[in-house]
Amino acid sequence: MELEIRDVSKTYANGVHALKDINLTISKGMFGLLGPNGAGKSSIMRTIATLQTPDSGKIYFDGQDIFATPAEFRRQLGYLPQDFGVYANASATDMLDYFARLKGIHNAKERKNRINELLELVNLTEHCHKAVDTYSGGMRQRFGIAQVLLTNPKVIIVDEPTAGLDPAERNRFYSILHQLTDSAIVILSTHIVGDVTNLCDDMGILNQGTLLSRGKPDELVASI
Ligand code: ADP
Ligand code: ADP
Repeated sequence: MELEIRDVSKTYANGVHALKDINLTISKGMFGLLGPNGAGKSSIMRTIATLQTPDSGKIYFDGQDIFATPAEFRRQLGYLPQDFGVYANASATDMLDYFARLKGIHNAKERKNRINELLELVNLTEHCHKAVDTYSGGMRQRFGIAQVLLTNPKVIIVDEPTAGLDPAERNRFYSILHQLTDSAIVILSTHIVGDVTNLCDDMGILNQGTLLSRGKPDELVASI
């Protein structure tokens, strides 16, 4: 399982060079993208999620150009944007059921089993009948991960998932993420150095649209 980002650049209509010739190969496990606000983390993640196209460069998943057949790639992708679930005025169970139908899980029993299993995984079983917009930030992010996992994605992208969470909620969220790394590429963005050192197998440092360095968290962080 491998995601290859080759010579990817992006300039927005306002002239901001958000991504400058990014080259990066990411394998199974947890990859941390560390960088300050405005570094380009969301830009690279939206690009991998095929929500925007690069001006130049390519991205391959297991050798396949993701922009050649984006619908096919999206079936293998889970993307959790920032501030997820703030406006969801329905229960977690109903929301998950809705998305499971959308994603083509047509068998009601199969849907129910999968949803119950995911609610257990993210520790929301006892809150599953409450409206998601009444959840705390941490609960919303855990709900978001459950939604992302409905279709067993092979590439999971989470954009600053712990912004605004307290340390206990953050650890809880990360321990759930960690359970996914056996079977997926998990890409996490953060501006918190400790998050990548504690959690990630591999990392990159992004600043002003440029990948400054990549490697093992222990080695890289020592050099900052
Ligand atoms: P990060 O996620 O690291 O905070 P972003 O990828 O959001 O970084 O932003 C990188 C730069 O691109 C910033 O200067 C930001 O203002 C700009 N930017 C991001 N999205 C857009 C957009 N849709 N249109 C114009 N500029 C954008
Ligand atoms: P963050 O910097 O916190 O990661 P995002 O880059 O995800 O935030 O920005 C949130 C939304 O605002 C996105 O849809 C993005 O395209 C848009 N956006 C961000 N910066 C700009 C900008 N400078 N000009 C126009 N749109 C922007």
